[in-house]
Amino acid sequence: MSEWMKNVRKTEPYIPGEQPKADNVIKLNTNENPYPPAPGVKKACREINTDKFRLYPDPDVTELTAVIADYYGVNESEVFVGVGSDDVLAMSFLTFFNSDKPILFPDITYSFYDVWAELFGIPYKRPALKDDFRIDINDYMEPNGGIVIANPNAPTSLYEPVSDIEKIIAKNSSSVVIVDEAYIDFGGESVLPLIHRYDNLLVVRTFSKSRSMAGIRIGFAMGNPLLINALKDVKSSFNSYTMNMPAIILGIEAVKDDVYFKNTLEKIINTRNRVKAELEEIGFMVLDSCSNFLFASHENIPARVIFEKLRSENIYVRYFDKPRIDNYIRITVGTDSEMDAFIEALKKIKKSVDIC
Ligand SMILES: *Cc1c(COP(=O)(O)O)cnc(C)c1O
Repeated sequence: MSEWMKNVRKTEPYIPGEQPKADNVIKLNTNENPYPPAPGVKKACREINTDKFRLYPDPDVTELTAVIADYYGVNESEVFVGVGSDDVLAMSFLTFFNSDKPILFPDITYSFYDVWAELFGIPYKRPALKDDFRIDINDYMEPNGGIVIANPNAPTSLYEPVSDIEKIIAKNSSSVVIVDEAYIDFGGESVLPLIHRYDNLLVVRTFSKSRSMAGIRIGFAMGNPLLINALKDVKSSFNSYTMNMPAIILGIEAVKDDVYFKNTLEKIINTRNRVKAELEEIGFMVLDSCSNFLFASHENIPARVIFEKLRSENIYVRYFDKPRIDNYIRITVGTDSEMDAFIEALKKIKKSVDIC
């Protein structure tokens, strides 16, 4: 072994869902939006002045921050923008979780949280969700170095009421509580109004799911200006120019078209509810989704078998080989025709398994 290897930081990376190279696949595995971004995004993209690429972008992301602040009815000093919410969350872990006490997040949740905790050397504890995959808020009432809760949660799709989240925030005034609302546009009520009442609450959102912009990488956090300033200081100690110029321009366009945004959400929610019922008809138990995906388990076909058979039909869903959830598949809600093909494939799989 080379001497230098002793000094290499060893870390177990987050493994994102597969991005198949082929075009003829039905991709329901990474919770992307099946619909394109707002038409204004395409137009603005065509009109980008590439001569300006020679200049550094605005390190303060002023214009996009203003548009987001305006849309959500908060002050610009209450908004921090980053390269996808993964960037915002990583910066938040680095900024706010510096205690010797463990941070807390559920045993089943977004699997990047433990990766960041490991990378940054943050002690952590993962209280188990109840058998029905719901949070027991009593698990978050002990001394801790911070709390992260995805609401709606991933990969369960379940939403916890604001009143419960507020109890956690109120009880933990001496640590920062991050609420990751990546899926909140698809269902449930946001804790956003609480940022004016609790200076320890940081709400994190993304353009990747509800705004169809996963490829452009925009995420943001909203919270008390003291939290936002602390985040900006850490970010500026790391990389001043995280948001590139096209991303800033296109992000602004995406927020401008609220009619398109609301229409797209409605389509996805309708498709989700229809597909949930159809899955139940063919023997699936499906959790109550407030997101753009469904988390489902079949009464007699193992999830891994379903996952593999679907994959051989070029239909990609997500399977987690992890304790408690290894008999579930997570299905992103696609277009109606994609979901029809998915249901047809499942019926075929069910038939082939029933015969033997
Ligand atoms: C998708 C997702 C993210 C990351 O989104 P990006 O903005 O694309 O980085 C963060 N948290 C949860 C719970 C997610 O599902």
